[in-house]
Amino acid sequence: MDNTTYNNYIKAGAIAARVLSDARKKVVSGATYLNIIQQTEQMITDAGAQLACPSTISVNDIAAHYTPLLNDTSTIGDNDVVKLDIGVMIDGCIADTATTICLDSNYNDMNNTAKSALEKALKLAIPGTNVGNIGGVIESEIISKGYNPIVNLSGHVLSSYELHSGFSIPNIKTNTKDTLSEDMVLAIEPFVTDGRGLIKEINKVQIFRYIAQRPTRLPAARKLLDLAKTKYHSMPFTSRWISDVSPLMLDSALRQLSDSKAIYLYPVLKETGSGIVAQAEHTVIVRDKPIVTTKI
Ligand code: MN
Ligand code: MN
Repeated sequence: MDNTTYNNYIKAGAIAARVLSDARKKVVSGATYLNIIQQTEQMITDAGAQLACPSTISVNDIAAHYTPLLNDTSTIGDNDVVKLDIGVMIDGCIADTATTICLDSNYNDMNNTAKSALEKALKLAIPGTNVGNIGGVIESEIISKGYNPIVNLSGHVLSSYELHSGFSIPNIKTNTKDTLSEDMVLAIEPFVTDGRGLIKEINKVQIFRYIAQRPTRLPAARKLLDLAKTKYHSMPFTSRWISDVSPLMLDSALRQLSDSKAIYLYPVLKETGSGIVAQAEHTVIVRDKPIVTTKI
């Protein structure tokens, strides 16, 4: 990794850490999801960084991929368990980090379990580690505290303008040949639940990503696909960001692009046992002494 790249990862990580810590304070009973997320994204761009993906706010048994649209009036409840997950980018170098805010202190133990599983995993971000062993460490920490890891969510390798590049970093012990090498950049993200430990997609999609150029009849769809590829660098985006396509045309444009497999959909993910979910995530550069970029 050259110096410029390294410095961009460090810079993106520092911005992400500071923004997430400030964003946490906005998660209070009665606050709207939309306000929290719009302020979070504003803090990222005000800091001179780009959004690597829409910031998400996933509450209680919603595990991931929830980002409010402009007409979303949902508010934080008195006893909610709230996951904030953000992606910050400088010149394609990504920092991906998440935190959980428990308004009900009964879930502090679950949240602490996500954090301790993450800390143990980060120590293994050294050259030569088999990623199946990282999953094993995360799984046993979570099971030892009496919870379940979510088995079908995992961490990932980051690369230039790519959030999911190469293999996954599992949250359970797996048999794999995938092994870490120096200077790989990883996002590690244990999800802990008192439910079944399995998520499913629900019929709500707020996040999309460019896949490929496809023939489209609708001018609005062509315009949207161009934005997805160029303005959003083929990275995840939300319809909430789109102001240059008529709101009346937006849904049909998205549907047409999805039907023709020009864009990929990220449906909202829900715990199948309706368990509460806590998540912790950091980005780390693989070294003999791992460099966690997203810690303050
Ligand atoms: Mn994330
Ligand atoms: Mn991630």
